[in-house]
Amino acid sequence: APRVGVLALQGGVREHETVLRRLGADVVLVRRPEHLEGLEAIVLPGGESSAIDKLMRIFGIREPLQQLIASGLPTLGTCAGLILLADAIHDAAPGQLQLGGLDVVVRRNAFGAQNQSFEVDLDAPEISEEPVHAVFIRGPLVESVGEQAHVIAALDDGRVVAVGQGNIIGLSFHPEVAGEGRFHAKLIELTVARRSSAT
Ligand code: GLN
Repeated sequence: APRVGVLALQGGVREHETVLRRLGADVVLVRRPEHLEGLEAIVLPGGESSAIDKLMRIFGIREPLQQLIASGLPTLGTCAGLILLADAIHDAAPGQLQLGGLDVVVRRNAFGAQNQSFEVDLDAPEISEEPVHAVFIRGPLVESVGEQAHVIAALDDGRVVAVGQGNIIGLSFHPEVAGEGRFHAKLIELTVARRSSAT
């Protein structure tokens, strides 16, 4: 089984763990740098991106994780996870740093307050022939997509909410809270592709 980490410093860890186990992954909750050893993929969950950033620095996870992602570790970021992966953040908290890796600019909290949360089905042909289910909870908006990145899905009005770049997938929303597993399945697919190209 592929060994998949979930960054477990803060935020919505449990639902990712459930989806990944259902898909047959061996899940590691990442709280210390040594938990990164031997991972074949990682999920950066939703939560509060500035808090996760702070905790990554306190626990010495930020730099090794940044290196792993830059060297091709398959990575799925949801909501706060997308914010961490964006090369630039609008409305960042004071002193907030990003891991980077996705050539996009995101704006935090662009979909309004918690009570303005909503759910939609999105076309994401790269992920599935059938629409995927997306739950938006105070998510970031992808304001611009640079040359290195590409759009995976957008809302009907054109707002971009899912992006990819090589080994990285970033989502403005939460697939995991509705049990939507196809993005995680894609992540696992990337580990298999990487295994066979490493031999
Ligand atoms: N508003 C949060 C942030 O800026 C993200 C919300 C979420 O992950 N559900 O980090």
